[in-house]
Amino acid sequence: MGTEATRTGIIDNARKSEYIHLKKDVYTILPKGISLIEALLRMEISMDKYKTSELGKALKAVYRGEITVDESVSLAEKEIAAVFASVRRQSPPETDVYDGFYRDEVGICPLCGGKVVKGTYGYGCLNYKEKNCKFTIWNTMCGRVIPLSAARSLLETGTTAKLVGFVSPRTGKSFDARLKWDPQSQRVGFDFD
Ligand SMILES: [Zn+2]
Repeated sequence: MGTEATRTGIIDNARKSEYIHLKKDVYTILPKGISLIEALLRMEISMDKYKTSELGKALKAVYRGEITVDESVSLAEKEIAAVFASVRRQSPPETDVYDGFYRDEVGICPLCGGKVVKGTYGYGCLNYKEKNCKFTIWNTMCGRVIPLSAARSLLETGTTAKLVGFVSPRTGKSFDARLKWDPQSQRVGFDFD
């Protein structure tokens, strides 16, 4: 992450932005951080140190008078345009994009019977504060958006239709699966049958 010179600043920013949390010398990732990384993966935006130094090269070239400020801006513009061109190319079908709005009702919580609504990072139970209910379906799982309709079906019937285009973060292979609620582990998991 970054270079030795920039790492401390990056970690500090990540902490201030609530992507990660520091407690007794141990960093843990927060939901917002997971959400960010999944978005970057989905948009194929590379944030590794080689990429960062590549972008830095343009700034150094301006400093040395090899290119103009305008030229460096147009390089950055091209870079950004390329990112969004690739996102458009692999946009999922219309029904699979983020749908619904913040606080849209999704269904009844299988853990506490409370109301599940769409939140910032996923579909969550409104009793999370009062009863410490931890029920959540994340907005994205394995690089794929979980649409509101799937979340509704999961709460109503305990399962969803087969969703295509998940990508295993471990193997990089794509796979299709239903989501199902497992009452035993009290988690939402994949169903490959
Ligand atoms: Zn609940």
